[in-house]
Amino acid sequence: MSAIRSQSEEMEKLPAKLCRCGRQPELVRTMLSVQTGRQVRMFECRCGERTWDD
Ligand SMILES: [Zn+2]
Repeated sequence: MSAIRSQSEEMEKLPAKLCRCGRQPELVRTMLSVQTGRQVRMFECRCGERTWDD
């Protein structure tokens, strides 16, 4: 049970889509958007590509 729970928590740290290089970007930081008032997550791939939530 605990293994399943920790797995689902891990999923929330991942972006919805893979990097264009085909790998899974990792969460590097979260920021609060002053424009929307929502938290924005920044992901960075091993290839150096960075993506954000929106
Ligand atoms: Zn990449």
